[in-house]
Amino acid sequence: MPEGTSFAHGGVNTLRDKTITAISTPWGEGGIGIVRISGPEAISIADRVIALTRGRKFSAIQPRTVVHGMAAEMDGTNIDEIIAFSFRAPKSYTREDLVEIQAHGGPVVLRRVLQAVLAAGAVLAEPGEFTQRAVLNGRLNLLQAEAVLDLIRAKTNAAAAAALRRLAEGGGEQLLAVEARLLGLSAEIEAWLDFPEDISEPEIDSLAQKARQIMGGLDLLLVEARRGRLLTEGAMVAIVGRPNVGKSSLLNALLGEERAIVTDLPGTTRDAVAEEISLDGLPIRFVDTAGLGQTEDRLETLGMVRSRREIARADLILLVFDASEPLTDSDREIATELSKKGQGIAVLNKADLPGQLVEAPEPVSSWPTVAVSALTKHGLPALTGAILNALGGQPAEAVPVLSHLRQIEAAAQARAAVAAFAAGLGEGVALDVLAEELRASLASLARITGREVGPDLLREIFSRFCLGK
Ligand code: GDP
Repeated sequence: MPEGTSFAHGGVNTLRDKTITAISTPWGEGGIGIVRISGPEAISIADRVIALTRGRKFSAIQPRTVVHGMAAEMDGTNIDEIIAFSFRAPKSYTREDLVEIQAHGGPVVLRRVLQAVLAAGAVLAEPGEFTQRAVLNGRLNLLQAEAVLDLIRAKTNAAAAAALRRLAEGGGEQLLAVEARLLGLSAEIEAWLDFPEDISEPEIDSLAQKARQIMGGLDLLLVEARRGRLLTEGAMVAIVGRPNVGKSSLLNALLGEERAIVTDLPGTTRDAVAEEISLDGLPIRFVDTAGLGQTEDRLETLGMVRSRREIARADLILLVFDASEPLTDSDREIATELSKKGQGIAVLNKADLPGQLVEAPEPVSSWPTVAVSALTKHGLPALTGAILNALGGQPAEAVPVLSHLRQIEAAAQARAAVAAFAAGLGEGVALDVLAEELRASLASLARITGREVGPDLLREIFSRFCLGK
């Protein structure tokens, strides 16, 4: 973001008089743990908490110089041996004075260091508040701040690489080029509205042509955004079918094919039947929905309720059939139910056995169909290809600029406003009326990079961050 760009949310700005602190490393035991302090009092607070050898004051040490000392409570009780360093405003992550204290990574030690910093005058940071300050102080735009979050949360190499590019480029050429064109178009009309005597009336054809170009640019951003969102959020794929068609076998085969990711990390919810893998860099969670197609006992009914819930949430359904047997009523019932639910792939499993079933039944005959054998793994690459295709996740050259629903909605609104402008041109609506559409479109785009966001939205965005970032 250019120097001097100001934000329209004074409410949040005033809070920046406070000096904030948090433990920036994950909770639990670790080699080291870091307490960060940012704000106008950061250095003087560090002076009160850190005792350096030979009586030197922390504030007298050059910025970016690492010193060794002791963190102590206000009454002088030592807490831990630490190293510390400072950055001085504006050359820091937050553009404020910033201190990092590295202690041993034990929960008790870190909490005591944190408490000492609080006692010395800092206040506890809210989640994401360091990054929020980086945004408010103009070091990052909002798109970049969200890229920081994406990078921390990335589950695959591809997701991390895309987030890093967004962080470096802040929306990059693509978004800025569209915005510049839109600004040009808007300015052309506003100038004529303000000085109709001095400027000749813009030509409708030329205006329409420019509007089309802008819509094209936004369309490109929106198409890529699908992959952007998939990369950051991942996709959920439900494996559905009557008992014994080979759902669990297929799940295992899919998991065996690709490197399983993150399932063993503490803190990730580990459903007994859900597993996450990386398919060409897209984090995909498969859920084996047992239970559909059988209603006799209570437990099965409960399973069915749960399965239906999973299916409703799924981004894609794999409907599995046993190709070695003729179609059953249960197969047909499930197919009928699912055909109303949305997107899916029909999987004809057990292709290694003599076949009885060569195509998907009528209700889902329009779905892509893949023959596989969970046993021999025949057809699995075709299946993973079909999954990627259906999710719109085929890798592209371009790194998606947009990756969050918030950004995508703003881009879609910007496009809708330009489309309304173009339609109005065709209908001969007066330019002073149509100019409003372009202003609205510009405002929508400004919400993506954060030039026009209120404190409530900022708070909501940063609440998704972890403490200490
Ligand atoms: P689920 O109830 O749908 O989860 O089905 P399972 O995965 O438990 O499989 C049911 C039976 O079919 C098991 O005996 C599997 O070994 C067998 N099976 C699954 N997939 C295949 C396959 O592709 N080929 C063959 N021949 N048998 C399979």
